[in-house]
Amino acid sequence: MSSAINDSQEMRTGSPEPPPRETRDWSGVLETGCTECGFPAGELTPQETAHRLRDVMPGWEEALRSDDVRHRPMPTVWSPVEYACHVRDLCRLLPARLSMILSFDNPEYPDWDQDAAAQEHAYWTEEPLAIADDLSRWAAAAAAALEACSTAQGERTGRRSGGRTLTLNQLCATFLHEVHHHLRDAGGGRSGQSAQDRAEIIDLLQRFFSAFVPGPAVHRGAGILREALLPEAVIIRAGNGSTAVYGVAEFIEPRVELLSRGELLGFREWADSARIDLFGDIAQLWCGYAKSWSQDGLDHRGRGLKGIHCVRASTGWRISSIIWEDEREGLPIPLFPPLPRLDD
Ligand SMILES: [Zn+2]
Repeated sequence: MSSAINDSQEMRTGSPEPPPRETRDWSGVLETGCTECGFPAGELTPQETAHRLRDVMPGWEEALRSDDVRHRPMPTVWSPVEYACHVRDLCRLLPARLSMILSFDNPEYPDWDQDAAAQEHAYWTEEPLAIADDLSRWAAAAAAALEACSTAQGERTGRRSGGRTLTLNQLCATFLHEVHHHLRDAGGGRSGQSAQDRAEIIDLLQRFFSAFVPGPAVHRGAGILREALLPEAVIIRAGNGSTAVYGVAEFIEPRVELLSRGELLGFREWADSARIDLFGDIAQLWCGYAKSWSQDGLDHRGRGLKGIHCVRASTGWRISSIIWEDEREGLPIPLFPPLPRLDD
C-alpha cells in the first residue's frame, strides 16, 4: 500500500498538532438527525444497530485502502486512519458499556477521553492494514454484543460521565451515528457511496421482490410495487431477441392476475446478489434473482439478472427502470456480492 510506504510529514517530524477538543454533543442526533452525514433522528434497537454496523464496515475497509489514508486534509483534522482508530475504540468500548447497562441500574460509564486516547496511542503512527483488521474485529465483537441484548432491554438506561442519561436504544443510535459520521470524515462515501443509501436501496430491492406472492396477499404486494416504482417507471423483459416493454400498471396487473389464480403454489422471488453503484441521487444495480414455485405437481426454480436504475425522489429511493432477462442455456448469471434474504 503506497500510503504505508510514503510516510507523512508528521511521521518524520514527530507528533502532529492535536485537533481542537471534541465538544460536540453527539446525543443531539436523537432529536434532530445529522445534517452533515444525513443520519436520521430517533432511536435504534440493538439488533438493528448490529445489522447496520455490519452494513457500514465495507465502507470503512474501502476508506482504509485509499492512497492518502494517512494524510490529514488540514493540519488539525484527523486523517482517515486516525478516524478509523477512534471508531475502533468506540467499538471496543461498546461491549463494556452494554454489559454495565444490562447489569446495573442507570450506571455511570468510566470516563473516556477520546483526545487523550488519540495522543496516548499515537493514532497517526498506526498501519492502515493493521487498523482495518483491528476495526473489523472490534466491530464484529460490538455487533455480537448488541445481538446478545433483547429488545425488552432497550429502555434500560446508563450515563456518560458528565453527559446525559441515555436508554440502551438511544446509546445504540448515537454509537452508530458516530461510526457513520466518521466514515464520511474519513473520505468513505466521497463519491456518494454512503452506507445509509446502500442500506435503503437494498431494502427497496428486497421489498420489490417480496411483493410477488401468490393468493390474496398479492394485492398487498401490488401496493408494495406501486410504492417501490416511480409512477413513470419503465420495465423491460429481454431475451431471445425480443423485448416486452411495460409501464407500471401494465407490469403489475397481469402479475396480480397470474398470482391470484392459485396455479403457482408457494411462488417466491428474491434478490440473491447485487452490485450497487451510487452517485449522489442516482444508483444503478446489477441484481441476480431467483424464484421458486410448484405447478401441476412439479417444483420449478428459475434465476435471472436485472439491471435496475434507482433515483432519490422526494419520498426516498424509488426504482425508475428495470431491464431483465431470465437465465438460459449458455447465459450463466455473473457472480455479484450476496445479499441478505428478507426474513418474512
Ligand atoms: Zn452525522
